[in-house]
Amino acid sequence: MIKYEKSRAAFAEAQRVIAGGVNSPVRAFKAVGGEPLFISRGKGPHIFDLDGNRYIDYVCSWGPLVLGHAHPAVVAALEKAMHDGLSFGAPTERETRLAEVICGAMPSIEKLRFVNSGTEATLSAIRLARGATGRDLIVKFAGCYHGHVDSLLVSAGSGALTLGRPSSPGIPAGVTGDTLVARYNDAAGIIKLAAAQGDRIAAIIVEPVAGNMGVVPPEPEFLVTLRKIADEHGIILIFDEVMTGFRVAWGGAQALYQVRPDLTTLGKIIGGGMPVGAYGGRRDLMDQISPDGPVYQAGTLAGNPLAMACGLATLEELSAAGTYEDLDAAGAKLAAGLTAAAKKAGVATFGTRVGSMLGTFFTAGPVRDYESATASDTEKFGRFFRGMLERGIYLAPSQFEAMFVSTVHGPAEIEATVVAAEEVFGTL
Ligand SMILES: *Cc1c(COP(=O)(O)O)cnc(C)c1O
Repeated sequence: MIKYEKSRAAFAEAQRVIAGGVNSPVRAFKAVGGEPLFISRGKGPHIFDLDGNRYIDYVCSWGPLVLGHAHPAVVAALEKAMHDGLSFGAPTERETRLAEVICGAMPSIEKLRFVNSGTEATLSAIRLARGATGRDLIVKFAGCYHGHVDSLLVSAGSGALTLGRPSSPGIPAGVTGDTLVARYNDAAGIIKLAAAQGDRIAAIIVEPVAGNMGVVPPEPEFLVTLRKIADEHGIILIFDEVMTGFRVAWGGAQALYQVRPDLTTLGKIIGGGMPVGAYGGRRDLMDQISPDGPVYQAGTLAGNPLAMACGLATLEELSAAGTYEDLDAAGAKLAAGLTAAAKKAGVATFGTRVGSMLGTFFTAGPVRDYESATASDTEKFGRFFRGMLERGIYLAPSQFEAMFVSTVHGPAEIEATVVAAEEVFGTL
């Protein structure tokens, strides 16, 4: 058995002064049993906990660390920026450079704004969509997560399409009353919805590859239908690419599936490990934001120099030829290994993958929406998670989070992960 004593003590200490002992709930390991590891450092594909245990990391800070931990080029860029001062609250050229790279990679983004998190990006995009259309209703899909924005923290009732109810105390019903919840991958459902209320809908917001109910890829006609419906009714289509941007392809899911949204939200990888978000899209929409337009949005630390430097260095590395082919090949190898290991052990799993984003659902599947995703055996996943952790493999501590491969997860790491999975599946 691996020893976790120092992590255990650190968690006890944290719980006295930090709510739940963590600064984001999924970190607490509640969904898988046990207690969180406290991390002391990371290097390449590995993280090390306080007790000195080493793990191959497939969380990668929940996606941003597509180059692995403490990548030399990123660290060097940060170091250089740091000596120039940490923040000015005034424009700097690095902001323009990073915006240029993003606009170049995603042609649907003609202009953008930097913010500090994915949550800020989606809430700002929603405000802009409402401001620009003069409409209040927004449509989201059950199982998609867009940060902890009040109006987007809704759960669906029964049925394919329902009026959102707040999924957390502290959110007035009035705030979610303008949010409609539809079923992911249900093109027919959205056509029906638009026929009834299309002219009252400001925006449809969607994860073009769902990554927050486990990984659920879009079915062929789904995103195309959203684009068509949005065009027919003057609805603003928002792709939330906070996770998929620069992850599933250089140009994000919109490049992979060739569907152009009106607005895109970004975060995670564009900050390379620093807190960053962005929203951007059609010029006529972005011109509605203050100071050019009437829709207010601001940020004291937005476009922070260190965050911009970190994001620029990360995207520069990612722009090298062959990066996404290599990420895809590594993801494919791992996915095939995991599927074969489960099959050999006779454990029912349903594997999903888009590039270096992977899901292993503990259900026979198929998984195509929230309902089928939540049919998974989460207790069995918990045992799988703990078995993998014991063998030095750090997975996301929830059935409903993605597994991320980075550019530094080489054949040795992937092979070791598959070997561990073969052992663990055999014990389930
Ligand atoms: C992570 C994530 C967010 C929220 O980003 P934060 O930086 O955690 O606020 C929003 N949307 C999607 C799709 C995400 O994966």
